[in-house]
Amino acid sequence: MTGSEQRQTLSFLRQRFAEAGIDLHKKLGQNFLIDLNLVRLIADSAELGPDDVVLEVGTGAGSLTAMLAERAAVVVTVEIDEDLYRLACEHLVQFPNVVMLQMDALARKSQLNPQMLAEVEKHLAQKPNRRWKLAANLPYQIATPLLSNLLTLDRPPQLMTVTIQKELADRITAKPSTKDYGALSIWVQTQCTVELVRVMPPEVFWPRPKVSSAILRIRPDEAKRAQIPDRDFFHQFVRDLFQHRRKLLRSELLGAVKGRLDKADVDAVLAELGLTGQERAEALSPQQMLQLSETIRRHVT
Ligand code: SAM
Repeated sequence: MTGSEQRQTLSFLRQRFAEAGIDLHKKLGQNFLIDLNLVRLIADSAELGPDDVVLEVGTGAGSLTAMLAERAAVVVTVEIDEDLYRLACEHLVQFPNVVMLQMDALARKSQLNPQMLAEVEKHLAQKPNRRWKLAANLPYQIATPLLSNLLTLDRPPQLMTVTIQKELADRITAKPSTKDYGALSIWVQTQCTVELVRVMPPEVFWPRPKVSSAILRIRPDEAKRAQIPDRDFFHQFVRDLFQHRRKLLRSELLGAVKGRLDKADVDAVLAELGLTGQERAEALSPQQMLQLSETIRRHVT
C-alpha cells in the first residue's frame, strides 16, 4: 500500500478530520469514497498517460488526486473548502506535479471559473502533445452545471471520468420517451459517447449519502460536435423546449421563438422536418432535436 492509498479508509479519514478539527458540510457534497478499489477504478478508467493534464474538481482529502498524479503529467485540482484544501496540501506536497487551487469551480451557475480554466490552459500550452482530461468524484450540487458548461467550450476535456449521483447518470444516458430524458440527455448525447463504468451503493461513501452513485465516462466526439455550428444556440434551444414537459412541441416551439418567428414559419419548419407539432419534445431523438434546432436557427438568423 502506498502513502497515498492509506488515506481513504473510514478510520483514517475520521481520525484525520478530528485531529484537524474539520467539520463536514453536507451542502458541499462532501461524501468521500472509502473503498480504495473504487478510487483506483476511477483513476484507471480515466485513461491517463504522461501527456495528460487532468482537472479534478473537489480535492477532498486528496487520495484520488494522488492516484491521478501517479498517472498523469499534471493534475490541476480545485477545492472550495479552505480546511480541506489545507489538509490536502499537507498530503499532496510530495507530488510536484499537483497544482492546488482553493476556489469555487464555478464562477456563476452558468460559468466555469475562468481562473481554473486558465490554469489548465497554461499546462496544456507547455507541450504541443498535451491532452486535457477530467477525472473527479464530483460534488453533487455542481455536477450538472459543471459537465454542461464543459461541453460549451471549443476545447473540452478529451475524456470526463466522473462519479455522480445515479439519478444524474440516468438522465445523461436516457433514451427518448422515458421519464429521465430531457435537455441534459440531448445536450450530452449529441456531442459525446457515454459509458457507464460502475454503479455504486451508498455504503462506499462516508458520510453515507441517501442515494446510489455511478462512474460515467463521457467522451466528447469531434465529428458529432462538428454538426453543431452554434453550440450556444443549441444549448439554449433544448433547454427552452423542455421548460414545460407536458406541452406539445408546436406550442413549446412557439414560446421558444416568440418575437423571432411567426406561427406560419414554425409550421413550415415542422413540415420541412416531417413533424406535426403534436409530438412532445421528449419523443424526438437527440439527432432530430439537433435538426430542428438547426432549421429554426437558419430561419431566425
Ligand atoms: N475527491 C474526494 C473523494 O474522492 O473522496 C472528495 C470528493 S467529494 C464528493 C466533493 C468535494 O468537492 C468536497 O471536498 C467538496 O468540499 C468539494 N466542493 C464542493 N463544491 C465545490 C465547488 N463548487 N468547487 C470546488 N470544490 C467543491
